[in-house]
Amino acid sequence: MTPVLVVGGGPAGSSCAWKLASAGVRCLLIDKDEFPRDKVCGGALSSRAAGLLINSGIISTAELDRLTEKTHRTLSLWNREDLLNSYTSDNHPIRIISRMGFDNFLLEKAANSGAEVITGETAVSIDSSIIRTSSGRSIRYSYLVGADGCSSFVRKTCFGRSGRKTGIGLECFLPLSEVNNLTDGLHIHFRYLPYGYLWAFPGREKICIGAGVVGSKASPSDVASALKDFLETRGISASKHVMKAASIPSLSLHKSMGAGQIFLAGDAAGLVDQVSGEGIGHAIESGFLIADAIISGGDRKTMLIRANKGCLGTVRQSEFYRHLLFSRLTEKLAMSKLKESETFSRAYWNLISGSQSYNDMFLRLLTRSG
Ligand SMILES: Cc1cc2nc3c(=O)[nH]c(=O)nc-3n(C[C@H](O)[C@H](O)[C@H](O)COP(=O)(O)OP(=O)(O)OC[C@H]3O[C@@H](n4cnc5c(N)ncnc54)[C@H](O)[C@@H]3O)c2cc1C
Repeated sequence: MTPVLVVGGGPAGSSCAWKLASAGVRCLLIDKDEFPRDKVCGGALSSRAAGLLINSGIISTAELDRLTEKTHRTLSLWNREDLLNSYTSDNHPIRIISRMGFDNFLLEKAANSGAEVITGETAVSIDSSIIRTSSGRSIRYSYLVGADGCSSFVRKTCFGRSGRKTGIGLECFLPLSEVNNLTDGLHIHFRYLPYGYLWAFPGREKICIGAGVVGSKASPSDVASALKDFLETRGISASKHVMKAASIPSLSLHKSMGAGQIFLAGDAAGLVDQVSGEGIGHAIESGFLIADAIISGGDRKTMLIRANKGCLGTVRQSEFYRHLLFSRLTEKLAMSKLKESETFSRAYWNLISGSQSYNDMFLRLLTRSG
């Protein structure tokens, strides 16, 4: 019997396995891919996510600095090609990491702390506390952690489909030398797509340019043509670059973090901010919270209280506030507010860097104290 089986070795699964093993709980982590593996992602790591990693002890500041390609403090917000505002933050930087190296590092941390890690092993069936894998293994578990990403096999098999439409992100990486004007900080271009945006996130040698929508009527081909327009406006031929797409989850309508002996973390739980698309920090936080719940004998109630104050609460708030930024009725007002005053671009930075909650931000903007 394996006390804890973690399916998925992304940030959610590795953080969970690391914390469990560090507390002396025996756990096995399986991932369908061989590592290092890549993940379609802009690689923006919020200050909040960096704080979670460093404060937990899974990574030191020096190690995170080594994994960081670039640290950004400046954000430019655009209404399509019209500059609304640029904001430079004194603190709460956003780091750009490469998911290949970052995820591999966290998985190694989990293994070094005593978790058993098997890569190249896919979970293919689940039946009364037994998981069967692609190589024919049968693994009996006491607790199962589904950290297997947006299309989570664990979630679908144990709880059915999430009942929510997934979003989509499409991106490419270009050498910095091929791009003009986008390398001075983070850039976000609204209104190319409904309920989504285009981004340009410069790293050390390359820049990630992408487009994403969540809970939007936009189709994959709408997302692709928005990205193509954006690139071609800058004289970059879209067909010369490899584009990679991946789904972006929304919260399930019920049992977001699982039920009974089965826990769901990260994208499998739908823990992605519906305004910014941030998911790495929420994956790490949910992995830690689940580990704590298992260490304390399956205390789901405390876990949910903590999650509601943290990742789960933030994602729920983002589901509400996204309509203020993106809905047809309010988006023009939102764009004019962002243009009119730095207060709003500062608020946006605070949200994406994770230094302020949506509710706090909204209250401050209403009272104009922030
Ligand atoms: C285009 C795009 C850009 C994004 N940009 C950002 C960003 O800049 N910043 C940010 O914070 N977030 C971003 N996100 C979101 C972020 O990538 C995810 O939220 C994050 O990767 C979630 O981590 P996870 O561990 O839950 O899942 P994942 O990182 O997806 O890991 C899941 C793991 O499970 C494994 N797996 C899947 N099925 C099985 C199975 N049946 N058996 C065994 N293993 C399995 C997979 O191989 C994978 O390694 C972006 C997402 C997209 C699509």
